[in-house]
Amino acid sequence: MELREFQELMRDAVRKNGLSPLSEPAEEAFWAFAMHLLRVNEHVNLTAIRNVPDVITKHFVDSLLVSAYLPEGARVLDLGCGPGFPSLPLAIARPDLRIVALDSTDKKIRFLFDTATLLHLPNIEAVTGRAEDAAVRRRLGAFDAVVSRAVARLNLLSELCLPYVREGGHFLAMKGAKGEEELQESANAIGLLGGRVLSADEKLLVLLDGSSEPRVLIDVQKVKKTPPQYPRAYAAMLKKPL
Ligand code: SAH
Repeated sequence: MELREFQELMRDAVRKNGLSPLSEPAEEAFWAFAMHLLRVNEHVNLTAIRNVPDVITKHFVDSLLVSAYLPEGARVLDLGCGPGFPSLPLAIARPDLRIVALDSTDKKIRFLFDTATLLHLPNIEAVTGRAEDAAVRRRLGAFDAVVSRAVARLNLLSELCLPYVREGGHFLAMKGAKGEEELQESANAIGLLGGRVLSADEKLLVLLDGSSEPRVLIDVQKVKKTPPQYPRAYAAMLKKPL
């Protein structure tokens, strides 16, 4: 797809979803990112989304919906970023953020690293590893915000994410229609890990075909230190969820 056609679709999606307009260099970066993603995805399985309009709404715009919750200059961890969602769109639209993108799958992190290099993004660091790994745990409590999309149910996700948030910072869980229900079952986990739920904002993600999908953004503030045993080994989390 040519840049002009992409720009029109992207502007339309940004406007319909109430986001602030992107700069022209940012639009060009999103275009290059979309073309690169769909090209690489032909031989490396990175995403089930295989057409430009869906990449724009379900990956790019959906990722940008969390931007309003991230303060200027924030240190952000994207936990389980996959090929870079929400981290890469945020790095493009918000050069002020300092982002660490973490995923346990090396081929996804390699894609993210190559994309960040291609797009000249200096504000994103790509890390292969699991949230429970000793090497990653060195960063416990080091982030103003931890964001995560489509990684695990909220009780488990809270154990992975909240330990990485500094006191006073935020854990922002990007959820779908089940968000509220998952929140009900996670009250205990969130409290134990030092979090307090501030809000669960429901929005409709407007797609370019005119349909829409519910998105629930759960904002948890870290109000006290997480006990040092968290996150536990993954097997222990699955066996005895908080
Ligand atoms: N956030 C991306 C990818 C979601 S798929 C998106 O919304 O498109 C879930 C990703 O989480 C997978 O790539 C998987 O490798 C990663 N993941 C799952 N558990 C993890 C853990 N404990 N630590 C780091 N990454 C994890």
